[in-house]
Amino acid sequence: MKKTALITGISGQDGAYLAQFLLKKNYRVIGADRRSARDNKWRLRYLNIENKIEIVNIDLTEITSLISLFEKYKFNEVYNLAAQSFVGTSFVNPITTSQATAIGPLNILEVIKNLKQKPKFYQASSSEMFGDVKNNFQNELSNFNPQSPYAISKVFAHHITKNYRDSYKIFAVNGILFNHESPLRGEEFITRKITLGLSKIIVGKLNFLEVGNIYAKRDWGFAGDYVEAMWKMLQQKRPEDYVIATGKTYNIKSFINTATKILGMKTKWVGKDLNERLINLTNKKIIIKINKKFFRPAEVNYLKGNYSKAKKELRWRPKTSLKELIKMMLKSDLENHNK
Ligand code: NAP
Repeated sequence: MKKTALITGISGQDGAYLAQFLLKKNYRVIGADRRSARDNKWRLRYLNIENKIEIVNIDLTEITSLISLFEKYKFNEVYNLAAQSFVGTSFVNPITTSQATAIGPLNILEVIKNLKQKPKFYQASSSEMFGDVKNNFQNELSNFNPQSPYAISKVFAHHITKNYRDSYKIFAVNGILFNHESPLRGEEFITRKITLGLSKIIVGKLNFLEVGNIYAKRDWGFAGDYVEAMWKMLQQKRPEDYVIATGKTYNIKSFINTATKILGMKTKWVGKDLNERLINLTNKKIIIKINKKFFRPAEVNYLKGNYSKAKKELRWRPKTSLKELIKMMLKSDLENHNK
């Protein structure tokens, strides 16, 4: 029998890659999308799967629409990927962030709780929950010390998922995913901002790029590798939470340096603190500047995941190196400019 999966956040980066993955596994994929006047299906078109998914209009903050949806379809698996997912925006819009990112998953769990046949439930937890970390690496047992309204909302969603698993025997899991990127990453996220910005500079469409704290360290993987882990978590005998990461950490400055090297640019950092800037040695022009406006009210300076549990129990490991990932993103951004 063909399995039916619901993916919330189908218009986002992970929604697109997960849909592609599940379609290859012969699932019927229902994608939940909140109605929007903007065209937000470009990622599904990029992967050539737009016509293979049934789209339903659902806002996670509206429980009545979720009740009707679960009456209409019998889902085997539900992947909750919808969220207001940009940390910076969560400081500007903390209330709508918590409504979508914290209360949204609770709404789904409330609906599932009352079903006779309960689908399996995946919650997109985040390494941002670890926040201001005290240890060299973070795993499933590390403490949460969230530093933004986004991360605090994710901590709520994480605990409520565990609580419904324990209280109502729902097969519910949290995938604690460290940063994962791709050509489909939103343009506001730093990695994509860099690959898009540099490719625009290369083709002469932009003079310089402004960024925030270039010393923040992150554990970056490829989104296409990470969606497989989501699916694997729901195929286990028992519902458990897993960290998904690469186990390597780099700062944003070294991400930029790898990108400029791949592009064959000769560059040099000069100056200090807010005056630090990257110079293109070929024409002596500044191509990257620091701007205070991109610093967060509270910063997460360092994240590095330990995915040993996923490696052992899910037999999952990251396949794409950071250099390969940056190459892939630059190639796609350059192709878009040349269209
Ligand atoms: P994304 O590209 O920002 O996608 C988020 C999706 O959520 C979009 O489809 C968005 O729809 C939808 N959404 C937002 N508010 C909604 C609401 N009220 N009702 C229904 N849908 C709503 O995020 P992503 O990178 O794919 O990440 C997927 C999930 O994993 C998110 O929950 C994110 O927080 C989490 N996560 C991501 C990372 C990462 O590095 N990418 C790491 C850890 C955890 P619109 O198109 O209408 O805005």
